[in-house]
Amino acid sequence: MTTNIALVGIGKIAIDQHIPAIMASPDWELAATVSRNNTVKDVENYTDMDAMLKQRPDIPVVSLSIPPAPRYEYAKSAIAAGRHVMLEKPPGASLSEVQILQDLANDAGISLYATWHSREAADVAAAKQWLSDKKLHDLTITWKEDVRRWHPGQEWIWQPAGMGVFDPGINALSIVTEILPDPIHLRSANLVIPKNKQTPIAADLDFSHPSGATVRAEFDFRQPEEQIWEIKATTDAGVMRLIDGGAKLFVDDERLSIKHTNPLSGEYPRLYQNMFQLIANSASDVDLRPMTLILDAFTLGNREMTDAFIE
Ligand code: NAP
Repeated sequence: MTTNIALVGIGKIAIDQHIPAIMASPDWELAATVSRNNTVKDVENYTDMDAMLKQRPDIPVVSLSIPPAPRYEYAKSAIAAGRHVMLEKPPGASLSEVQILQDLANDAGISLYATWHSREAADVAAAKQWLSDKKLHDLTITWKEDVRRWHPGQEWIWQPAGMGVFDPGINALSIVTEILPDPIHLRSANLVIPKNKQTPIAADLDFSHPSGATVRAEFDFRQPEEQIWEIKATTDAGVMRLIDGGAKLFVDDERLSIKHTNPLSGEYPRLYQNMFQLIANSASDVDLRPMTLILDAFTLGNREMTDAFIE
């Protein structure tokens, strides 16, 4: 028995990840899409969300892979229509709107899942297990990628709610908040903003850790050559490096292999499996810690203007 799901916003991440994950899953049937300018072969497409919700009562679950700015209104309509809702990261444009969605979902008795795909990367669970009994001295996040390669033509990323370099940076913080046993909070930040854009192209963040360990992040969208998505933790029992966005774990330069408890591989297949379980358990999963840290950077961050960014 498969469950019908509708996917909203047929763009880059829908095509790269959501559609293959849904299609390959024994749990789900891609029963409809909602997209103003795109379609998926052999799947009924709607250009209007409310029309889909009205005409397809047989679809109990909606997955939103649109950018964060318009997501709240779509999620609110879906919850009001009694549908379970899955949100791409970051879960919304502001904390308060996601908190309202949580309340609406609770009141309606539906499942709301604020996904963090990077937490499902292959070795994140192993890193969490390894760090669980170590004393942390220093943790450095280095997240440097080429915006032209990964976000071609995506003007929304440079507008309010688009988050700029924090759009990938929040993935690093979703991992760090998952693998560190202790909570961190932001102490200071420096945001580098192109003079023709609204959001940062680079940022340095400095966090406070309860033991006094140094915790820092360096995010940069101007990385033309080697792409770096690394979390390095120096501890009392060695140096851990989680590289390639959480895919590979090394301790003192040796690859560490800890078997994942989930036999399913791939970030998005795991997200869709998680969603299936949440609905089965009548539960929700909304962890706002990564987004809180990023929004604190917008509050506390020093602004440094830089050259205009021309794509
Ligand atoms: P995208 O391709 O620019 O947008 C996805 C689709 O959303 C668009 O094709 C568009 O479809 C629809 N859309 C755009 N603006 C809209 C608006 N104002 N109102 C309604 N629909 C709108 O973006 P993306 O890269 O897929 O990213 C979407 C989300 O996934 C973001 O939150 C991002 O952080 C997350 N994500 C992206 C990646 C990645 O590698 N790109 C990876 C992981 C997660 P129509 O015009 O057809 O309606």
